[in-house]
Amino acid sequence: MAKSPTNAPPLAAKWRKLAEARCASSGERLTPARLAAYAELLACKRPISAYELVALLEKRQNRKVAPLTAYRHLDFLMRVGLVHRLESTQSYLPCDHPEHAHDCQYLLCSACGQADEVESKSLETLLRKIAKQRGFQPENSVIEITGLCSSCSND
Ligand SMILES: [Zn+2]
Ligand SMILES: [Zn+2]
Repeated sequence: MAKSPTNAPPLAAKWRKLAEARCASSGERLTPARLAAYAELLACKRPISAYELVALLEKRQNRKVAPLTAYRHLDFLMRVGLVHRLESTQSYLPCDHPEHAHDCQYLLCSACGQADEVESKSLETLLRKIAKQRGFQPENSVIEITGLCSSCSND
């Protein structure tokens, strides 16, 4: 069991368990620093950039954090499937359902910045089929649909 991250936002037991499970199944080590970065992302209610993560960690820990360190944490979190990266805005956010591997599909609100993760098996299957028909080997698949969320479009 990983130690509690020091100077990190409280991490709900559910997310900590998921993080431990993802690390165990991928043979990765969950260090307190990695867990602290994950806790910051979970505490944010919107996608953040690597530099915003640096600022949050620095504020929380009251010391300098190198951007490279934040990028390493983010790479790790993406590798084990806990965090996704939005390509269009180069920002990061925690996965809503990290218990299993999946392609990323997002509805992004351009007014309030909300990122709604949706998971469609049929869409995933269709995209794989299209790629296969063309002899294409997909490595990473992220679908981002921008527009207005239900509360912003009602204003
Ligand atoms: Zn996800
Ligand atoms: Zn919105």
